[in-house]
Amino acid sequence: MQIVHLSKFLTLSLLVAALQPFSAQAADSQAQQSVSVTFIANEGILVAGSQARVVIDGLFTDSYGIFQVPDPITLTKLQAAEPPFDHLTVLLATHKDGDHVTHAIVSQHLLADPDCAFYAPAEVTEMFKTLPEYAQLAGRLHSVTSTGFGDNFLVGDVKIRAIPLPHLPRPAGMSDMPANVGYLFKIDGITFFHTGDTSGDNLAALQRAKLAEANIDVVIINWLAFIPEDGRHARAMLQYLRPKTVLLAHLTRKGAAEEAAKIQKIEGLPLIVLLDTPLREYKVTCEGLVLAVK
Ligand SMILES: [Zn+2]
Repeated sequence: MQIVHLSKFLTLSLLVAALQPFSAQAADSQAQQSVSVTFIANEGILVAGSQARVVIDGLFTDSYGIFQVPDPITLTKLQAAEPPFDHLTVLLATHKDGDHVTHAIVSQHLLADPDCAFYAPAEVTEMFKTLPEYAQLAGRLHSVTSTGFGDNFLVGDVKIRAIPLPHLPRPAGMSDMPANVGYLFKIDGITFFHTGDTSGDNLAALQRAKLAEANIDVVIINWLAFIPEDGRHARAMLQYLRPKTVLLAHLTRKGAAEEAAKIQKIEGLPLIVLLDTPLREYKVTCEGLVLAVK
């Protein structure tokens, strides 16, 4: 398998760039088809293209003592809808855990970003009912089905599929398993699939949703999905999905290198990029390879 750290990755980028014959037309079409992914923290990302600007699992405050959270400046920008988190098309949350969504922060964003919608499983949208601004926001809070075949919805001209994917097993003593959904969407010709806190053995759910036919370019996945350590379940899921690039997320604050190293030993995985540096921005081309970092 290939796992990419920044230095190696930049070398690869330059190599790929150097191998491509220059033409103004090619440069033009590449510029049009590149979409940026900005890592926020934990499993949170901003995907921004000409067609839409989407944040998934990015507005939250709970580290549970080990996970990355947005730093205070980033959190203020997220709340106030300030660049780069301004004029969002939609906010998506995969499940209710506090390392993925904090409803009071989402609410502040929606007040500051009047055209932005919010989609999440019902147990997330229910939480907003206690807020004084609920009546004002209710028309923009949408619940997605977390059972069966899930939901399809349209935001602007972007089609989004919410696909139920059971959550990772919980250690004994933790709260009940939350409803978890993955989100599939295409922006400027590039198809993304954010899997939330999917369990590693959700191959049947992916097959039922016929995701092999979705031509997925980029999968965002929790590193914990690779447990047990040989990663056989997550590997089977990725072999079925055949993404061009995997963004490995949910790495802990202190253990990221160790967690990535475990996955590095697994054979037969696609190109993997670690989401370990908040606010790093990646450019993704229609080939699904991350070609530039700034
Ligand atoms: Zn989580």
